[in-house]
Amino acid sequence: EYDRYRERTPNSAAMADDLRELVPAGVCSTFRAYDPYPVHADRAAGASLYDVDGNEYLDFALNNGTQLVGHTHPKLSAGVIEQIDRGTLYTRPNELIEFAAEPLIDRWDAIERVRFTNSGTESVMHATRLARAYTGREKIIRMEGAYHGAHDPALVSKMPPLERAGPASDPCRVAESQGIPDSVPDDVLLAQYNDAESVERLLREHGREVAAILVEPACLNLGLVEPVDGYLERLRTLADEYNVVLIFDEVKTGVKLAPGGGAEYYGVQPDLVALAKAIGGGYPVGAFGGRREIMDRIAADLDEGVATGAAHYGTYNGNPLALRAVGITLRDVLTDEAYDRVTDLADRLAAGYRDVIEDEGLEAQVTGVGSQGMVYFTEEPIRTFRDWAAVDEPFHEAYWFGMLNRGVIPHPHDASQQWTISVQHTADEIDAHVDAFADLATHLAAA
Ligand code: PMP
Repeated sequence: EYDRYRERTPNSAAMADDLRELVPAGVCSTFRAYDPYPVHADRAAGASLYDVDGNEYLDFALNNGTQLVGHTHPKLSAGVIEQIDRGTLYTRPNELIEFAAEPLIDRWDAIERVRFTNSGTESVMHATRLARAYTGREKIIRMEGAYHGAHDPALVSKMPPLERAGPASDPCRVAESQGIPDSVPDDVLLAQYNDAESVERLLREHGREVAAILVEPACLNLGLVEPVDGYLERLRTLADEYNVVLIFDEVKTGVKLAPGGGAEYYGVQPDLVALAKAIGGGYPVGAFGGRREIMDRIAADLDEGVATGAAHYGTYNGNPLALRAVGITLRDVLTDEAYDRVTDLADRLAAGYRDVIEDEGLEAQVTGVGSQGMVYFTEEPIRTFRDWAAVDEPFHEAYWFGMLNRGVIPHPHDASQQWTISVQHTADEIDAHVDAFADLATHLAAA
């Protein structure tokens, strides 16, 4: 499959060589670099991405799922283009704030007030700072192997190599970047996703120092791992018991698992929610919101010129292009009918995968929620990061490149990601994806 990939993508190879001379690893976010070189994009439209070699791909990666609306959605493009002519940045309050904030407040019971940011990293960073400000405590409990953005504490054990990770019951805190001060991991406590006991143990020991429990309601950076029954409910109870802020990182799950994200889908409301990605339909925007008494801790008061609450600043926060994109995405594009449609299509894709897997006798697990889904080539279902670490990466990569060679990008590169069905995918395109997998599966089964 690698040879065939190289044959189909000579212009991507040449562009990769050129770009490596200009930007490190030839990419603008390190996650995007992979061997032998990434597909280099020419343009995207609807459910398709076109590369610089003229290949068309049915796109189910959709920029890490930001594009639940698909590419170049006409309503979104028209609204944003109109906004460009009215001004791209005001740094003054304006009516677009209400246009974008209201649908978020409507969708999450937990969100009574919201602030806008420019990315998921910023949303999580500000939510955790706010939790510290609110509680007057410093430590954050997070789940080993979960991704919460690129700021320093979020890179502690986001996906540590097992040989450095220590035992699951007492994981080592691995700073996964050079340049992170030694003091940073001290304030990060590691639990295991889907193991409420591990959170409880940390709270029993450090409860009075813990500001927040930070968790993705479903783990969308381990493919697609759902919470086991009672897990999120137990985190809610523990947060209440220990007066700790429960933060849902819904950067990926938000407006995707259900209109009101994982909180709605699983029926558990956090205290704070971090959002980004799909809320903006592919425009750079994030948001964090939550209970009024916590959000109002964001500095309004000045005491001799010094803010008394938690700081939240940013020149591009709530810029008109982003707010216009959020409002149109949530009000006009992601309608109830749109959710029904993408969920039906996602079920159709998952069912197609299961049939092929059975026909070919492959060992694999298919998971899915709402518009999202994933295949793991493992014998057992995945419940935790340690389970996930058992995924056979070379096999998964053979699947991924094999799909590319058949005109389908099934999900972002590697088994930590999942597919997204957009409102612009059609049943025929789902069937084409299944057909490509069926064709590939005979080869995988023989491998
Ligand atoms: N949290 C989660 C759960 C994410 O998946 C991501 C990005 N993949 C982030 C935070 C960071 O978002 P961004 O890349 O927009 O900074």
